[in-house]
Amino acid sequence: MSTLYLVATPIGNLEDMSLRAIRVLREIPLIAAEDTRTTRVLLDRYQIQTRMTSYHEHNKATKLKEILAALDAGDVALVSDAGTPGISDPGYELVVAAIARGHTVTAIPGPCAAISALVVSGLPTDAFVFEGFPPRKAAALARWIERIGHEPRTIVLYEAPHRLTHTVEALAKAFPTRRLVLACELTKMFESVWRGTCAGALDHLRTHPPRGEYVLVLEGSQPEQPESWPKTRVLEELKRQLAAGATRRDAARMIAEQSGWNKRDVIALLHTSGCSLEDSNDEDLRRTED
Ligand code: SAM
Repeated sequence: MSTLYLVATPIGNLEDMSLRAIRVLREIPLIAAEDTRTTRVLLDRYQIQTRMTSYHEHNKATKLKEILAALDAGDVALVSDAGTPGISDPGYELVVAAIARGHTVTAIPGPCAAISALVVSGLPTDAFVFEGFPPRKAAALARWIERIGHEPRTIVLYEAPHRLTHTVEALAKAFPTRRLVLACELTKMFESVWRGTCAGALDHLRTHPPRGEYVLVLEGSQPEQPESWPKTRVLEELKRQLAAGATRRDAARMIAEQSGWNKRDVIALLHTSGCSLEDSNDEDLRRTED
């Protein structure tokens, strides 16, 4: 019996290769690669001359037989373009087939964009779900939004740059004040991590159009802890909503709905904070306090 090695490769920074990954890729008879041209750059960097064959989304059904035959004859390493094979990348079907034939399947762990984004997000890491890419069609996206609306764990997603604003728009509409983190170009020269709310992220993207690769990390729903927003977050959200043109009445109502704060407490904070209240409109506030 042979071994199928699932070898994680860098998600941008070529220095993120483990010593074991380099050794196995050098010693193994065959590497199945998602894109042989992309992997060639990595192999050249580490003077690895191993033979490659392609295994990607569009040929994985036909290539499976060939790779299983190679596995019957010797060990095979699977790599994707970036990160961990099998995570929003080809690998799953090959792993299932290799296990069914009695081969050993082992991971050479390393980079994974989802995990890197989660750990830098500042959102809870004790329990999380990985949702891959959100659905593209409107109806499926609406059902997905509805489902994750009830998810209490931190939610990690991938999104393509040209779809990012559309997805953030949908999140901002459904969960305007939930915390959202945009982790961009991780491990690369222009790495950036933006932290705020879903509605704030939409504002941010209007002035910083998406460029590069993104992971989104969304706060889970907090039905058990309605009082959990700290004062600083309520203030930040008040300022954001007032700056965006909301009336104090609407801002207080929306924040009360999302934060678990009592509306009167939000209004009291408005009074004491001096938060853009110079232009205070008494009628507006009176209606808010009703
Ligand atoms: N298998 C990969 C992994 O383990 O992370 C994921 C492959 S998936 C096809 C590609 C998506 O991963 C991108 O659209 C983006 O959402 C995310 N991604 C990959 N590299 C990234 C990076 N350096 N920074 C941020 N997101 C990244």
